Amino acid sequence: MPENILVTGGAGFIGSHLCEALLAQGHKVLCLDNFCDFYDPQIKMTNISECRKQPNFSLIECDITDLDELSKAFSYYKIDLVVHLAAMAGVRPSIQNPELYEKVNVAGTLNLLQLCKIHGIGRFIFASSSSVYGNNAKLPFSESDNVDNPISPYAATKKAGELLCHTYHYLDKMSIICLRFFTVYGPRQRPDLAICKFASLLESGEALPVFGDGTSSRDYTYIGDIIQGVMRSIQYVQDHLCYEIINLGNDRGIGLLDMILNLEQVFHKEARLDFRVPQDGDLPHTLADISIARRLLGYQPRTSFAQGMQSFAEWWKCRLS
Ligand code: NAD
Repeated sequence: MPENILVTGGAGFIGSHLCEALLAQGHKVLCLDNFCDFYDPQIKMTNISECRKQPNFSLIECDITDLDELSKAFSYYKIDLVVHLAAMAGVRPSIQNPELYEKVNVAGTLNLLQLCKIHGIGRFIFASSSSVYGNNAKLPFSESDNVDNPISPYAATKKAGELLCHTYHYLDKMSIICLRFFTVYGPRQRPDLAICKFASLLESGEALPVFGDGTSSRDYTYIGDIIQGVMRSIQYVQDHLCYEIINLGNDRGIGLLDMILNLEQVFHKEARLDFRVPQDGDLPHTLADISIARRLLGYQPRTSFAQGMQSFAEWWKCRLS
């Protein structure tokens, strides 16, 4: 396994769990993050508070769109492999601010790939998203499905990132895996995502906004299972010269109303629902075909939705203590 791993967006939801898993396996972790205010930067500091106590952990406060600062970090630190998670995430806000999404998710990704080329770093994992599938009529979503019809700027930037990755694989023989994550949930989930938002509303007794008639569904994937997939991808790019696009999902759809029912159960509260018209950019359904992840990585999601929601609720209840 590579020794020195740069995790961009390492203070975020997925990044902080990955940093912990890498440290536990004895890697040196370089966590790069700009602590942007998409949500409270203090939450991100708290996410990595345990990591910061460990000698193998370094924090680099840097913006991936600032090529000068990023170049200094690449010159200063020894880096064997990059896991690129830093991004402006979220479908709906990307419709309000597409320029920022393009700048961070496309130009920022290009900066990282170019610096990897300059510094001879040949292994790269890119966080893509199930949102690239757009209004795909066919379920489950397979990596071979056409993804030329994104329905949000966010999705378009993730597809662009995958294309840039392919270019660097082709021209510079970099080993790259683009992981299409499917709605990740669990402790430290981003506050803008539905489960977190609903937990907050449930706690304060407010009604939960349900966009559409409640029949939409998501392939919710537990954070621990996602980390298993990322760790296996790190091993895979180490052992193979490759360019792969791989779905990381759970391969079962959970309806929106079932998700709310689960929340009610773990919080022991009854929800009031406020039905509204569907929002632009939202996919009606997501469901991952994970046969490639199983075959290439030996990936196997293990956490039932009920277990995952229980862990989420436990974290939620003690997160401010
Ligand atoms: P997150 O917002 O919690 O983490 C992203 C981190 O990137 C944050 O800590 C943020 O401060 C940092 N960041 C943002 N802009 C930056 C910049 N210009 N320079 C440096 N750092 C910057 O989000 P997350 O949910 O952990 O998502 C991680 C990755 O996975 C993202 O690329 C996201 O698009 C992708 N993804 C997430 C999900 C999900 O369900 N959470 C689903 C699909 C894809």
